[in-house]
Amino acid sequence: MKHPKNPIASLSLDLDNQWSYLKIHGDPDWDQFPSYLNLMVPRALEIFRELNLTITFFIVGQDAALEKNSSALRSIALAGHEIGNHSFHHESWLHLYSEAEIEQEIAIAEEHIERVTGQHPVGFRGPATAFLLPFLKF
Ligand SMILES: [Zn+2]
Repeated sequence: MKHPKNPIASLSLDLDNQWSYLKIHGDPDWDQFPSYLNLMVPRALEIFRELNLTITFFIVGQDAALEKNSSALRSIALAGHEIGNHSFHHESWLHLYSEAEIEQEIAIAEEHIERVTGQHPVGFRGPATAFLLPFLKF
């Protein structure tokens, strides 16, 4: 596949893990942080390698804090993709946090993500539509 020299789009993927869906649904055992990153990340990296694309992966800090995810998360950076910050706790109600709590949330995630991937995350994406909700009219 041939790609233009000047990119016409920006691609990103939020690494929402299994536990974050269980948590939002109120399912038990989400706090054991079940993870499918070891299964999903190698497949995603293979697809992007075949397509000759580098994208931005937004990583949840809680996943970076757990040793069981380290190898998968490190492999993303080693494959040349950009690493972004997707909060620490991945809570859809992040917009209800105080400013200090939001700063803490982002800083802790940043610390773990940088330690595991060796890359300083520049971009931040809030979980779900956390930062949009106050501005949306339903
Ligand atoms: Zn997410």
